[in-house]
Amino acid sequence: MMRGFPTKKVYGQSKLSTCPFCSRSATQKTETGLEVCHRHTNEQLQEIKCTCGRWLEQRAGKYGPYFNCLNCGNLNFGKAMEIKALTSGMAERKRPIP
Ligand SMILES: [Zn+2]
Ligand SMILES: [Zn+2]
Repeated sequence: MMRGFPTKKVYGQSKLSTCPFCSRSATQKTETGLEVCHRHTNEQLQEIKCTCGRWLEQRAGKYGPYFNCLNCGNLNFGKAMEIKALTSGMAERKRPIP
């Protein structure tokens, strides 16, 4: 690994999407506006439970899919994926209190 070299590229970041099911680059969209690879166009995201305990509602916006929580408001896709990882991975664990 090279050190001191920026590995994160900022430019073009918003355009580069990855399939949430397999992490390949997303080239297609599902009916709900979710960007996926060509193999997962018929997949649907599992329901995501927000950190507050409510279910998130997936919506398709002008800039791609996002999620809405009745308690917390709108969440961008990346944030929702973080929450999904948190809530699906440790369903019965204590959740971090901000
Ligand atoms: Zn995929
Ligand atoms: Zn919430």
